[in-house]
Amino acid sequence: MNVPLLDLKAQYKSLKSELDAALLNTAETQYFILGPEVQKLEGEICEYLGAERAVGVSSGTDALLLALMALDIKAGDEVIVPTYSFFATAGVVSRLNAVPVFVDCDPVTFNIDPALIEEKITDKTTAIIPVHLYGQSADMDPIMAIAKKHNLKVIEDGAQAISVQYKDGKSVGTIGDVGCYSFFPSKNLGCFGDGGMTVTMDDDIAELLKVKRVHGGKPKYYHSMIGGNFRLDAIQAGVLSVKLPHLDSWSQKRRDNAELYTKLFVEAGLAAEEGKITLDENNKVLLPKAVYKPESSNENQASSIKNYHIYNQYVIRVENRDELLAHLRENGIGCEIYYPVPFHKQECFQDLPSSKDEYPNADFAATHSIALPIYPELQKEQIEFVVKTIEMFVK
Ligand SMILES: *Cc1c(COP(=O)(O)O)cnc(C)c1O
Repeated sequence: MNVPLLDLKAQYKSLKSELDAALLNTAETQYFILGPEVQKLEGEICEYLGAERAVGVSSGTDALLLALMALDIKAGDEVIVPTYSFFATAGVVSRLNAVPVFVDCDPVTFNIDPALIEEKITDKTTAIIPVHLYGQSADMDPIMAIAKKHNLKVIEDGAQAISVQYKDGKSVGTIGDVGCYSFFPSKNLGCFGDGGMTVTMDDDIAELLKVKRVHGGKPKYYHSMIGGNFRLDAIQAGVLSVKLPHLDSWSQKRRDNAELYTKLFVEAGLAAEEGKITLDENNKVLLPKAVYKPESSNENQASSIKNYHIYNQYVIRVENRDELLAHLRENGIGCEIYYPVPFHKQECFQDLPSSKDEYPNADFAATHSIALPIYPELQKEQIEFVVKTIEMFVK
């Protein structure tokens, strides 16, 4: 049986006529960059997430870079980032000649461990970039408290987490100063190429995002500040407006798939409980855990929070990870390692002081993690086949 890591054609087929019409609309209007389609999408995103303002941009990476520029993060500033994330989270900091300062991750959620942030703060620290990795919120309450105490900006990297809700039901991205999203095709809400979005609750920051999106000219050709070309294409906005109304149902299917994985792993006797963090004889597969899952006993909270985890990735941890990866691929199962090298081990970051510190949880994740297929259109039989194939390997 063939089980791809992701099947974008299945999603396209389900919305083909509407998506084709959106593409053709751009061909008819010949209005390619920013314009009414982008404005329409920005309004829809605000409404959907409960954000005050949204500014469409060229990618998730550019969303982060633009956010740092709008918040005036400068050369020499220190910016706290998790050491375990996609490269862009730290790369954008270095591109501004600011200094990424790494923090280890929590062993259950893979997200930045708030208890380890304060020891990394100096008088040069100006910002924190929490990442909502794999589709679950970072622990924002303690992060916001630390930011307030030390007067730091908070840029949320929600590239894998658009629509995710934190404890009280608030959408991630609307909690810090700026929220950043990616519409790269493999994200939960993907466009037909590169695209991204910044959101904020602050009108002044929104104005800076808008002006710096077009080189910082205001009025055009008159520059009191420097920006870049961070514009979103109309064609991508059109595609995203078609897809956005379906995002919640896709996320629900991803959660259903995750639940089925958990059930099958437990039934196979491979994993005792979600959220365990050490591998031993009885626990051969560590499962991901949705930490901010509403308690079913608390009816009010349960009804307000739906997207406690949107499983952009379903990441398990196993011994002999590389052998399992090869075994799964031999059996036609798509899988991937997110991420094999934490920032503190990246060659380009070896000169950074914080690369010398210890990051045991990130090191463990980097050497034991493997992402399994979780996309919404995945069939029950395919999930059963993945678990059976893993069972054959570990037993
Ligand atoms: C994908 C991703 C980005 C970058 O988004 P692009 O649209 O590919 O530039 C940044 N951070 C994280 C955590 C991501 O997963």
